[in-house]
Amino acid sequence: MAYLAYRTSALRGYSRFMYNARAYSAASATSPLTSTVIARRDPTEHDVQIEILFCGICHSDLHQVRNEWSGVMPTIYPCIPGHEIVGRVTKVGSAVTKFKAGDLAAVGCMVDSDGTCPECRQGLEQFCPNLTLTYNFPDKHLGGVTYGGYSDSVVVDQKFVLHVPANLDLAGAAPLLCAGITTFSPLHHWGVTKGKKVGIVGLGGLGHMGVKFAHALGAHVVLFTTSPNKKDDALRLGADEVVISRDANEMAKHAGSFDFILDAVSADHDINALIGLLRRDGNLTLVGAPEKPLQVAAFNLIFGRRSLSGSPIGGIAETQEMLDFCGAHNITADVEVIPIQKVNEAYERLLKADVKYRFSIDMASLKAA
Ligand SMILES: [Zn+2]
Ligand SMILES: [Zn+2]
Repeated sequence: MAYLAYRTSALRGYSRFMYNARAYSAASATSPLTSTVIARRDPTEHDVQIEILFCGICHSDLHQVRNEWSGVMPTIYPCIPGHEIVGRVTKVGSAVTKFKAGDLAAVGCMVDSDGTCPECRQGLEQFCPNLTLTYNFPDKHLGGVTYGGYSDSVVVDQKFVLHVPANLDLAGAAPLLCAGITTFSPLHHWGVTKGKKVGIVGLGGLGHMGVKFAHALGAHVVLFTTSPNKKDDALRLGADEVVISRDANEMAKHAGSFDFILDAVSADHDINALIGLLRRDGNLTLVGAPEKPLQVAAFNLIFGRRSLSGSPIGGIAETQEMLDFCGAHNITADVEVIPIQKVNEAYERLLKADVKYRFSIDMASLKAA
């Protein structure tokens, strides 16, 4: 339906404000991603046009492409995912002051918001009721839905475009825009600093960023994993200790000692065993989203006045702060760079957690597609 709406709006005369961009799209929940040509708007006065150099693959991309969130965010096809975008500015609108052609630029999960609600006014655009996500969201300009970063270019309002520190490896910087801010924001919000004891649960795309950030913030970092073979890598990434969460004796040694735990596991797991490791007023924040509801024992929260919360990405100002922090500490994601032609294979490997720790698509490969 939305595709039809877009076609109709194009017929109504929007076409002179559009250009063709190359992209990879899925035609249905069961189709592989394939090469296609899409319409992007020409930059309006507040817009920045970016040549995309790298785009990270987030697990959300796979969920959206396969319509696995049909209850909350049904997928509109064709679907072009990708919200971990870095590239170079090619053109700016007449009112753009933040960027000029040639600048490095990045775009994350959001491309627009109302700018006027209490959340936006506090720089918390991620909670805006009128947020526009980077893909599969109603496109205010062209009709249809927004198209993400598996593409050679994107056009975004300057308010939602970020600066990328020049010293960062761009392939590794792309995942900062979702995996990075998703882990940085709660560490920041819950006051993780030097001297705090912080747990990171799970060593995947999110968890490995959590370890890097918590370490760079000066915390004592404990990585919880069910896989003993991840120990060396966790220590290399910045963990001070590694605890095998299935080992009750090892877990008991840490009872009541954590200021903060970031839980990045999206599989079913024992949340009570983790809550019991928090000290008084400690917090456990979920950034992974298990399919089934978690069982939480109330007494575990009551004794110790502990809290359990969740957190989505971060606001634009905080995302820039995170990128600047990464520039200062030379932090990027550990990535496996792939050509876009390998994206379907990468999705299958993602399902098996067979990547250290994020795929980053080298978008130059799209020219050969
Ligand atoms: Zn994501
Ligand atoms: Zn708002």
